[in-house]
Amino acid sequence: MVTSDPKAQSEAPVCSSRGCRNTAAWMLLWRNPRIHGSDRVKRWAACEEHEPTLREFLTARGFPCETQRLP
Ligand SMILES: [Zn+2]
Repeated sequence: MVTSDPKAQSEAPVCSSRGCRNTAAWMLLWRNPRIHGSDRVKRWAACEEHEPTLREFLTARGFPCETQRLP
């Protein structure tokens, strides 16, 4: 897997939700079609609790979004 985020390679990622320090159980892959090309994918880590919140935030804006379960 290719990643540009060095943090994602060492330890388990922490939830991207503001103020949340939980270990992420999900990875959200998304992009803003208005500013990102189709080859540019942003990654957000999310814990069990915040995965629906973060996904809703993205889909409400019409951003293509895909969730992957982390091991
Ligand atoms: Zn969280």
